[in-house]
Amino acid sequence: MSDSDTRDPTSLRTPIVAVLGHVDHGKTSLLDKIRGSAVIEGEAGAITQHIGATAVPLDVISSIAGELVDPDDFDLPGLLFIDTPGHHSFTTLRSRGGALADIAILVVDVNDGFQPQTLEALDILQRSQTPFIVAANKIDTVPGWNANEDSPINATYEAQSDRVRSRLDESLYEIIGNLSDEEFSADLYWRVQNFQRNVGVVPVSAMTGEGVPDLLAVMMGLSQRYMKEEMEIDVTGPGVGTVLEVKDEKGFGKTIDIVLYDGTIRADDTIVVGGTNETIVTDVRALLQPRPLAEIRTESRFEKVDEVPAAAGIKVAAPDLGEAIAGAPVRIVRDRELEDVIEEVEAELASIAVDTEEEG
Ligand code: GDP
Repeated sequence: MSDSDTRDPTSLRTPIVAVLGHVDHGKTSLLDKIRGSAVIEGEAGAITQHIGATAVPLDVISSIAGELVDPDDFDLPGLLFIDTPGHHSFTTLRSRGGALADIAILVVDVNDGFQPQTLEALDILQRSQTPFIVAANKIDTVPGWNANEDSPINATYEAQSDRVRSRLDESLYEIIGNLSDEEFSADLYWRVQNFQRNVGVVPVSAMTGEGVPDLLAVMMGLSQRYMKEEMEIDVTGPGVGTVLEVKDEKGFGKTIDIVLYDGTIRADDTIVVGGTNETIVTDVRALLQPRPLAEIRTESRFEKVDEVPAAAGIKVAAPDLGEAIAGAPVRIVRDRELEDVIEEVEAELASIAVDTEEEG
């Protein structure tokens, strides 16, 4: 099946989501939980496999979030989570000089509270002007917690004893206080009216899935409300993306894993990629998607596709990719002047290099 079969007729792309936070606060677990729930809920529907990112389509979000998400209220197609959590990937992955991620989740352990990397993440988010919400994680570790798997926060909160509730409240208000110390006006997400002015705090457990429905609902709502215009793209136009990783792949040689954030990439495109010594101009040999697990046999783990629209994670096999740089821009030439596209890629790469020097 080609991606064009499932393409949304509107040209609104999926917002790209990054997960940040202090080490061990649960970034990876939260992504695993969302991925796991998406796979279970999506079994009946088609889930496109991605490289380096997890797409959670709107109908899957709606089945995970239950009554918190009515699909009729949304026209954005879902959320695309970058699979590598952390500050390094957030700062190296750029698009047109800004952050590649459109929106972020800052994970804070409710017991451990603010830690050095939490502050660092806040600083990064503020400087890149990325809208974010705070996932107050590990609520299941509050002493006496009575877990209700995958429940929305309201229902599981009501099911706790008074003592457990007030313990959780205390930790949550401490996080809200810490945010306010850093000049972020924050509140529990259900009290937030304007997510542009206030940071919403969502209590969750990456272990039990409690609050995950709320987290997805808030991310979806925030994107729909405040980012719809930025998501308007020409899905059929020449693709633009960022290199996640450069990798040797058996049978394909050097490949690049990219996140495409605008337009489409096709299997017969010429692409321009930022390289260590010089800008690379090459012809796509194959666009590769991971095969669904059930179909993996002895042959390739990948399946060739003809074209992929943004936003998506995809592996690109092409000659001469040895010197491609992670974080560098990728642009599709299509019917434009090659020289112009090379210039765009070089200008973008130069701006990234300057920023990195400034950061020291
Ligand atoms: P990361 O470094 O931020 O990616 O953190 P991890 O996802 O690796 O989690 C660190 C540890 O905390 C692991 O042992 C997880 O199993 C545990 N953990 C993460 N989330 C939760 C949670 O919601 N509840 C509990 N009880 N443990 C969690």
